[in-house]
Amino acid sequence: CGIVGYVGRQNKTSGAHGALDVVLEGLRRLEYRGYDSAGVAVLTDTGVESRKKAGKLTNLIDVLQADPLPESLTGIGHTRWATHGGPTDRNAHPHLADGGNLAVIHNGIIENFAEIKKELLAKGHTFLSETDTEVAAALLGDIFRTTGRGDLTLSMQEAARRLEGAFTLLAIHRDQPGVVVAARRNSPLVVGLGDGENFLGSDVSGFIDFTRRAVELGQDQIVTITPESHEITDFFGNPAEGKEFHVDWDA
Ligand code: GLU
Repeated sequence: CGIVGYVGRQNKTSGAHGALDVVLEGLRRLEYRGYDSAGVAVLTDTGVESRKKAGKLTNLIDVLQADPLPESLTGIGHTRWATHGGPTDRNAHPHLADGGNLAVIHNGIIENFAEIKKELLAKGHTFLSETDTEVAAALLGDIFRTTGRGDLTLSMQEAARRLEGAFTLLAIHRDQPGVVVAARRNSPLVVGLGDGENFLGSDVSGFIDFTRRAVELGQDQIVTITPESHEITDFFGNPAEGKEFHVDWDA
């Protein structure tokens, strides 16, 4: 199972990448980890658009050929190893929330998902999949609209404090173009630093074709990437430092 995230800036002087190309390349590199489904989401002028499919990456690429995604500078991609709900198209990630304006991908297991799902059902939320991940997405969307004050980073901090288990979570929101927010607990996450673009990956192979500068996140940390910045905090918003390193193996 693998995770990739990307944000780039328009008018980059040297070789601008499209989010979808970067994310698919990253997922290809992460295939060695094993998976049963794959999916991507990008931010466009009209909002969040996603495609997902059970099976190998080639199945997803067939879907993208039949039903292409528009050009984008912000995207996330996922390969799933099913733990909650079978390996179906519907259970594949991304999972959407907040009326389709929020897309979330997740590696790991949310141990207290049943309890949170009950609360959200009582509030009127509906669910399309059997996954623990969709519960995390709905929780994040609910927080975004209430105590999170429409700020994805703040909302992710609060959601991460509620969630138990193991997770690498990535989220993009229509209201925050050019931003990917990620949280990590008991599950791996690395930031890749580019020039006018930044990356996220389960490991450095998720972005090795694009940059060799990487930052390792610590346990229980959140990172917000934009094309120009990466900001790391703990789950309470206190600033934290990642450990920067150079990837020197041959890809
Ligand atoms: N628990 C999640 C699911 O079953 C994520 C699995 C994974 O790590 O890919 O959808």
